[in-house]
Amino acid sequence: MATARATRRFTDPSPLDADHTAMPDRSSDALPAWRRALRAAALWFDTSAAPVDGEDPDRIDWLRVVPFIALHLACLAVFWVGFSWFALGVAAALYAVRMFAITGFYHRYFSHKAFRTSRPVQFVFAVLGAASVQRGPLWWAAHHRHHHRFADTEHDIHSPRHGFFRSHMGWFLTRRGFATNLDAIKDFARFPELRLLDRFDILVPVLLAGGLYALGAWLEGAYPQLGTTGPQLLVWGFFVSTIVLFHVTVTINSLAHRWGTRRFATRDDSRNNALLALLTFGEGWHNNHHHFPGSARQGFAWWELDITYLVLRTMALFGLVSDLKPVPANMRGARPESA
Ligand SMILES: [Zn+2]
Ligand SMILES: [Zn+2]
Repeated sequence: MATARATRRFTDPSPLDADHTAMPDRSSDALPAWRRALRAAALWFDTSAAPVDGEDPDRIDWLRVVPFIALHLACLAVFWVGFSWFALGVAAALYAVRMFAITGFYHRYFSHKAFRTSRPVQFVFAVLGAASVQRGPLWWAAHHRHHHRFADTEHDIHSPRHGFFRSHMGWFLTRRGFATNLDAIKDFARFPELRLLDRFDILVPVLLAGGLYALGAWLEGAYPQLGTTGPQLLVWGFFVSTIVLFHVTVTINSLAHRWGTRRFATRDDSRNNALLALLTFGEGWHNNHHHFPGSARQGFAWWELDITYLVLRTMALFGLVSDLKPVPANMRGARPESA
């Protein structure tokens, strides 16, 4: 069945895929505008609320994505709140911690089960991942598993074959992208704490933003030499850091399927890109990853820096994670397209 799908021509940019996220069959044409707006707003806070219906599940749901747009606009406030090295340091630290939570846990653990860990550690990194404002771990991993299954076929919701904008961020601004196919992530959906993080995915980001504001306000009085304030720490530590983190993360869907080299003749367009690997802590070795997704390590060669893997190795030393899956020896040798 999958083969039949894969051989279908790559023509329809937005196929309805029953295996992915079947859309509820509700008609809302008769709904007045104010009720549609209310429904969209409810989804900001509770992702299990009834979705705003439209005829096309691949149309961008502008009302629902207002917070995403606002997150971008809020970065402009850097011109009002000013700069301090302390605020920049906090922004960089939050980028690093959350990037690791995304690459190490949302990706290599929740999506690919490339190692084992305890339930408390699983939860802590699920929370840190949720602080990235990339929604809950179940949503993230379910979509990512689907990406590997159909990479760069017509069913891949964020293939750059649909265009750069759609692969970078257009895909999850749609109703189809917003939905979570829990069947694809049954193994983790059985944990109620993870389902809760997914349902109220705005909660952790709001707590982080509020905490940063409070910390900055306190430091302004207690340590004025740092030159920071509540609004400044909020803008740099939350808005700027989150937006940079977001756009760097999603380059793996957009640029890493376009720019770079191909060591392995995978069925998709994945590429290895050293710059993206550096910025994403190892995810830029994306052709390696599509060749053998089950490994905890994505930099296969000794010179392919994979910071996430190094951190996971360190965590394993302390017993926080275990059974890091290696790359089998027979999967390491290059298999170029011409071979
Ligand atoms: Zn990919
Ligand atoms: Zn993957």
